[in-house]
Amino acid sequence: MTRVQWGQFRDFLFPSVGAENEEQFGEYQRLLSRRIAVVMAVGLVVILPVFQLLDYLFYHDNSQVAFRNGLWRSLPLVVALGILWLRWSRPDGGWPRPMALLQGFMLMIAMAGMFSTTVIIGGFPEGEVHHAQGLILVIASVAIAATRGLRDIPYLYGVPLLALPLVLLVQGMPGEQVLDHMAYPIAMLIVAGIIIELLHHGNVSHFLATRELHKDAMTDALTGLANRRAMHCELGGAHSRSLRHGDGYALLMADLDHFKQVNDVHGHDVGDQVLKELARRLKMAVRAEDHVARWGGEEFLLLIQGVEKRVALAIAEKLRATVAETPFATSAGALSVTVSIGLALNAHDRHYETVCSRADQALYQAKRNGRNRTEIL
Ligand code: GH3
Ligand code: MG
Ligand code: MG
Repeated sequence: MTRVQWGQFRDFLFPSVGAENEEQFGEYQRLLSRRIAVVMAVGLVVILPVFQLLDYLFYHDNSQVAFRNGLWRSLPLVVALGILWLRWSRPDGGWPRPMALLQGFMLMIAMAGMFSTTVIIGGFPEGEVHHAQGLILVIASVAIAATRGLRDIPYLYGVPLLALPLVLLVQGMPGEQVLDHMAYPIAMLIVAGIIIELLHHGNVSHFLATRELHKDAMTDALTGLANRRAMHCELGGAHSRSLRHGDGYALLMADLDHFKQVNDVHGHDVGDQVLKELARRLKMAVRAEDHVARWGGEEFLLLIQGVEKRVALAIAEKLRATVAETPFATSAGALSVTVSIGLALNAHDRHYETVCSRADQALYQAKRNGRNRTEIL
């Protein structure tokens, strides 16, 4: 197998979301595990006592089997109750992945335990079939607890499936018969592996599709900058940080001067080219950690964090000069363009909207005072 083929095979077995998305995908998997663990826990809390009751009715003349099965069933039941308790006591914490895996694992252990109990001391052929069916059902359903694909197989299936034949052998069952009993579980393990892979592939594509949609919803199509909705999120975050830690931030509202004329004289397409070039220049002029958004038609909002008034004014001046000093190359030739900038720093404002509206008023003043200038409020 060549390197490329091996790479493709590996990507197929372990589909990747890309290194830049790993952290978010981990969060997505934790949420998924949590949902699965809770749904499974609710199901188990209902189903396990029902099965226990049926066992008492089924094995009325051999209550030792029912008793032992009850002990096995108490393992996943305790984990299920623990998961539900964690769910209600710590709504946004509680080790979701280990809990989901532990629950699947305990279910497997319980099923393997009950299977060997029935085979060894139950002695009813129909009981054996009954439990073999149960074993198969459990092996298949535990697959949904695996949110990381084949990587989760050792946790969920490794120990229980190794333990089962060992227990049977230790209890004195002939090796041939043990192999016989293992045929179904092993066949089911392969089926479970396929289910796990299909679910995992589904999860990866769902995650990537959701991310793509989210990115689209947060991006301005023309300029590729963050849009107003995305900027609202950034502003909310920056403002909370400023309230908590006292970090200052500056808002710069930049608006093209007489832009309507550009459209009227050269057409809308040329206007669009100007907007794109302006977006590029604004982005280039600030640090990577600063945020630039298209706030409206030809209005851009910049969020600069951790700066004081003097620095913020210098940045605004630099931006204004970046636009005014070099004409914009368009399909209608080079156009001289200017922007007016309204600047506001957060002070003791309770909401970021107040800072925004100060930047807006400052911009209005800059327009009134002759354009191609910065005003601060
Ligand atoms: P002022 O100096 O007072 O800001 O004047 P202005 O002409 O820039 O302001 P006005 O608000 O009158 O006009 C804004 C123009 O921006 C009108 C609108 O056609 C144009 N515009 C808004 N969005 C887009 C866009 O996506 N593409 C293009 N080409 N033009 C746009
Ligand atoms: Mg304008
Ligand atoms: Mg405007």
